[in-house]
Amino acid sequence: MTNYDIITAAIDKYGVEPQLIVAIEELSELQKEITKYLRGKGSLDHIAEEMADVRIMLSQMGFIFDNFEKVTEWEGVKLNRLWKQIHPCDGDSCPIRWNDEG
Ligand SMILES: [Mg+2]
Repeated sequence: MTNYDIITAAIDKYGVEPQLIVAIEELSELQKEITKYLRGKGSLDHIAEEMADVRIMLSQMGFIFDNFEKVTEWEGVKLNRLWKQIHPCDGDSCPIRWNDEG
C-alpha cells in the first residue's frame, strides 16, 4: 500500500466535495494550532500533526484538480520571487550602490 493508493482510495470512497470540505477543515485546524502556539499555549507536536493533515489534503487536492505540475511550477515562481525579495542585489539587475557617482 503506497501513499498514492491511500490518497486515491480516500477520494474514491468519500468523494471529491467531501474531501475538499475536509481540506478546508484541516487548513483551519492548522490555523488554530498556529494561533495557539503564538499565544503561548500551543504544542509543536500538534502543529506537526496538523501540518501532516494539510499535506495529505494537499496531495488529495493535487489528484482532484489534476494539477501537480502546475502547483510545482507556481512553487518555483513563488520561491524565485521570495529569493529576489530576500536578496534584491543578486544577479544582473543588482543596482551598483558603492559607486553611484560614476
Ligand atoms: Mg487535523
